[in-house]
Amino acid sequence: MDYHVHSLGHAAFRPIPAEIAPFLECARQRGIAEIGLADHDRYAAAFDWRAVRETAATYPEVTVRFGVEVDYRSGGKPAIRALLGTLPRDFATGSVHNIGEWNFDHPDHRDGFDRYDPDELYRIYFGEVAACAASGLFQIIGHLDLIKIWGHRPRGDVVALAGVALRAIAGAGAAVELSTAGLRRPVAETYPSLPLLQEAYRMNIPLTLSSDAHRPEEVGQEIDLAARIARQAGYRTVTGFSHCRSRQVEL
Ligand code: ZN
Ligand code: FE
Ligand code: FE
Ligand code: ZN
Repeated sequence: MDYHVHSLGHAAFRPIPAEIAPFLECARQRGIAEIGLADHDRYAAAFDWRAVRETAATYPEVTVRFGVEVDYRSGGKPAIRALLGTLPRDFATGSVHNIGEWNFDHPDHRDGFDRYDPDELYRIYFGEVAACAASGLFQIIGHLDLIKIWGHRPRGDVVALAGVALRAIAGAGAAVELSTAGLRRPVAETYPSLPLLQEAYRMNIPLTLSSDAHRPEEVGQEIDLAARIARQAGYRTVTGFSHCRSRQVEL
């Protein structure tokens, strides 16, 4: 499975069969049986599930689920709830990409890390992730430890720092994703790292697998490796979603 695919990229692609098909073709070639489209909520006006369905009909080997990746910001809960109310979906992924107005995962804004003590920054970040999960709006929490993207590490134990987020995720009954996107970034490891994944497993938090593909050739990238890491952490099943209901699939 690959439950985090941006078939619109960042508006690089249009929601038409000719531009959706390469994503499904790549999934088929990599043996991905199920993909979850999770384009950013800022492109919601361009979502076209009819075009997706029409395209998916020509790829019977690939089950396509409809989702959205919501850029979670504290205080935005009413607006997010209103947006989700307009979107027929199989799942929604909640992700934290901002600390206040600072978009920390954007390559042009890396110098923002200089303004924070790393441990303090991790504490603030995981507090935001906790709020995201506690909102109860999301089936999946995206890239749990994205704050490490450029390689800034806390001095303290990251599992302890993430405790507040993990407890909120477990409490909300949400899943985390094991994302291979971090392998393509300077940090060069999955989101989350193995110690955090092991802690998630101990807390009975369900798991999805994802590439966070923004281009067809990234669909399913390193998902085999993600499946091995998931098993290493203890997981024997991963989670799929249909109409916001989960089901477990053997790894
Ligand atoms: Zn994106
Ligand atoms: Fe994201
Ligand atoms: Fe994404
Ligand atoms: Zn993402």
